[in-house]
Amino acid sequence: MKLVVLPGDGIGPEITAVTVAVLKKLNLGLSFETHDIGHASLKKEGTTYPARVLEACRAADGIIIGPVSHLDYPPRAQGGANPSGDTRIALDLYANIRPARSRKGLPHWGRTAMDLVIVRENTEGFYADRNMHVGIGEFMPTPEVALSVRKITAQGSRRIALAAFEMARARRKKVTAVNKINVLKVTEGLFLQEVRKVAAAFPDIAYEEQLIDSMAALLVRDAARFDVVLTTNMYGDILSDEATELSGSLGLAASINAGERHCMAQAQHGSAPDIAGQDKANPASLVLSAAMLLEWLGLKKQSPDFLKAAKAIEAAIDALIENPKTRTPDLGGTLGTRAFGEEIARKLG
Ligand code: ATP
Repeated sequence: MKLVVLPGDGIGPEITAVTVAVLKKLNLGLSFETHDIGHASLKKEGTTYPARVLEACRAADGIIIGPVSHLDYPPRAQGGANPSGDTRIALDLYANIRPARSRKGLPHWGRTAMDLVIVRENTEGFYADRNMHVGIGEFMPTPEVALSVRKITAQGSRRIALAAFEMARARRKKVTAVNKINVLKVTEGLFLQEVRKVAAAFPDIAYEEQLIDSMAALLVRDAARFDVVLTTNMYGDILSDEATELSGSLGLAASINAGERHCMAQAQHGSAPDIAGQDKANPASLVLSAAMLLEWLGLKKQSPDFLKAAKAIEAAIDALIENPKTRTPDLGGTLGTRAFGEEIARKLG
């Protein structure tokens, strides 16, 4: 099976190198094809996301993307495309699955331990680069007025709800739909209307709703009560950073972007320019994202080896994190990015 690897910006090249080294250790018959994106390809090719790289992603069995500093890119017309957003749209990667789990032996910053998964809609919402057919969803009628359009569709809401309820069946059987129905009555109303229909088809799954503001507080106060958290694009983006940081560190924040036919592993965090190139980043976020990709491939291709490999990576990282001597600086340890990667490989070996 072929995986396309896009190292990205900031800490991206460091954590993707570790991720590929770990995957190579697993003897799964994977081949890797690396392409520059972001600042590296802007310098060479005048664009942060060459069209042929997107086509390579479309042709691959899976994608591993490092974080991208798209905030620093030039305008799109001058080559500054957002590789992450563009791939999510082009390959219809509508489900962004973002787990947050506290680990044995590691302090968590919320009051309770947690084991939850945020299921975030990924292709519409307030994200201006992905909610219009032509043009973008933000505009300025005058220099002093700025407007932003949010797109919510019945179909988009239904399919992400289905993904959440199916996931809950394999977990603790509870879905919490996070919303702001008290203010955005039309868009949130459509989202919840579709979610409630799906909920009715899953009578074995407990269903509840929470407003986004109380959810932000409840994650700090009692995250243990949540299992699968279903929400729209922007709330999911914000809540997942909160949840993973509360669980221990953003450095543990794994995710996949999944559609019917494609899947992309991507850490939840950004390119962390403050620690880039210093061998300080925790690569666990991307390595664990790759493990999620292996699980997705294992289920899709019915490969027990892939499922076993995903579990082995998780177990190796849990064991390393449990020991204060084998932690990275974000978790109070001293191991560098590369050394942590070597420890994972040693555990797998
Ligand atoms: P961007 O502009 O790409 O979003 P950012 O620095 O604004 O980058 P993040 O990359 O999400 O946002 O980083 C937020 C904080 O978390 C930073 O202090 C960063 O160093 C830290 N951080 C993020 N990822 C990791 C990681 N893998 N290991 C250690 N620290 C991390």
